[in-house]
Amino acid sequence: MLWDYIFVGGGLSASVVSNRLHHFDSSLKILVIEAGGNANNDESVMWPNSTNLIGGEYDWKYKTVPQVALNNRNVDLPCGKALGGGTVINSGGWIRGDKFDFDLWGDLVGDHRWSYAGLLPYMKLSEDCPVDNPKEHGKDGPLPIQGIVSTHREFPLRNQTLESWEALGVTQLPNIDGNAGNPLGIGDLFENKLKGRREIASNNFPLGGVTVLTKTLVAKVLLSTPTASGQNPEATGVKLANGTEIKGKEIILSAGAIRTAQLLMLSGIGPADELKKFNIPVRVSQPDVGKNFQDHGLFASLWTLKDPSAGYTVTSPNPLWNQPQYGYGTPADFLVTTSIKDKAGLAVAIEKDEGKKPDPKTHPLLKTDRTFNEHVFMYTGTPDGTTVTIMLINLLPTSKGSVTLNSADINDVPNINPNYHFTEVDKFVAREGMRLQIEFLSSNKTALGRDIISGELGATGFTETFTTESTDAYIDSRITAGLASTFHPMGTAAMGKVVDTNLRVKGVKKLRIVDTSVFPVTITAHLQVATYATAYQAADIIYNTKC
Ligand SMILES: Cc1cc2nc3c(=O)[nH]c(=O)nc-3n(C[C@H](O)[C@H](O)[C@H](O)COP(=O)(O)OP(=O)(O)OC[C@H]3O[C@@H](n4cnc5c(N)ncnc54)[C@H](O)[C@@H]3O)c2cc1C
Repeated sequence: MLWDYIFVGGGLSASVVSNRLHHFDSSLKILVIEAGGNANNDESVMWPNSTNLIGGEYDWKYKTVPQVALNNRNVDLPCGKALGGGTVINSGGWIRGDKFDFDLWGDLVGDHRWSYAGLLPYMKLSEDCPVDNPKEHGKDGPLPIQGIVSTHREFPLRNQTLESWEALGVTQLPNIDGNAGNPLGIGDLFENKLKGRREIASNNFPLGGVTVLTKTLVAKVLLSTPTASGQNPEATGVKLANGTEIKGKEIILSAGAIRTAQLLMLSGIGPADELKKFNIPVRVSQPDVGKNFQDHGLFASLWTLKDPSAGYTVTSPNPLWNQPQYGYGTPADFLVTTSIKDKAGLAVAIEKDEGKKPDPKTHPLLKTDRTFNEHVFMYTGTPDGTTVTIMLINLLPTSKGSVTLNSADINDVPNINPNYHFTEVDKFVAREGMRLQIEFLSSNKTALGRDIISGELGATGFTETFTTESTDAYIDSRITAGLASTFHPMGTAAMGKVVDTNLRVKGVKKLRIVDTSVFPVTITAHLQVATYATAYQAADIIYNTKC
């Protein structure tokens, strides 16, 4: 059998692209090969309180290499291992991000199909959104979206939370909608769930008519040997870990930002020095494969309630929590996104990283208010119900890491190095985000600080807790000890460097990549919306362009 398309990895992106290709032409012979199992009907993953998610059977359970800026900790980095990929275990946050990033992407690669205006039609096509704003949102897409407002959830501290953010100068977005291109402010928290039920990409983009192999690991891409010098090799199929070879006319790598980079290198496409370490013949020298790796860092802190009997947390006996809608998703009123106020401080951090004074009029981090931090105040904490949680997510890391080989064997996990929190800018941004949260929860300026919270709980190994008097050194040490992953690996086969704007791997015929590895700029959002839109557009491109 000669397949028209072979997808390596059957995650979010492969589900969308293969579904769309079949929709365009049902006679196409499409094969999707997925390392994990099929969870499409597995009730153990379907609900927010499911326990078979992170650490369960559909998680690769990766760990990073020791993170030099985080006390050499190996950070857990779960990734989906199932048909549907990350959508089988993710939290379902539906967060579009900032128009600025997509426009930067379009400009960088010189192709405005990848700008905000270029991707917006696909963002709209993918969603069935409760917000009435046809310019920005779709109503007919395969992914139903729920918001806090649309599901009629009014958490006990909603008014105080809103008031507290506003007291600090953070304002509500029009329609409380952070998914309309400008997320800076207070927005509703959207999730792609239907009354709480998980939406797995391979369910919402059904794969009827597509042949799927699950529990099947691909070891590498097979490349032809060109007959004349100067010709590029051609991808002719894939080799499975069990040695079987499967032939196809076009191969699409969709194994996620960690494994796609590994598969390229195992196939002889990558940095020559890296391949030579493991005696892999260099078929195409591609120095940027595995570089430009990024993830968003996440820091959570717990804050003690003045009156734990008031029924604020989901583990309290408050009858509110018995209403079914309160079990639909993340127990939070809002998703709050902020830029950096202290631009002079940011400029100093940039100078330390880059060795020269940045021009505030032209520097990409200074010339406009970018999306830097996300804040989610949640009605959960310690099981005894005495604390609440706030999460800080650093959405615009300037630290870059890498994925490199650990061996020439696909069964070995590669070296995963997000290099979290390495730059002065990242440290500065996390510190400013943390200071804002400290003010939000413990200063006299806010309703929460005055009436609801008695103080921060603290962390193991620290005698101090966060207060408005905390020093930079203390904040840094807490973040260094506690920063975790937001599970958003991206960028290891960046468009413009490794693939062209039609997603074709440079220097190889018949090979494309569609997954988060192609993002050439940091997407300052949880990655699903951008990934669905990229995959949706990729299907049009693949169907309409030769490879
Ligand atoms: C725990 C968790 C929570 C998250 N929460 C959110 C959230 O709330 N909101 C949000 O927007 N995003 C979230 N994400 C991120 C989002 O799910 C991912 O960004 C998205 O799934 C990436 O899509 P992808 O197509 O690039 O890769 P994936 O969906 O990861 O798919 C890659 C697939 O390739 C398979 N594969 C890998 N190697 C091989 C091989 N050699 N052979 C065969 N198959 C292979 C994998 O098993 C996997 O199924 C979360 C992710 C995780 C893990």
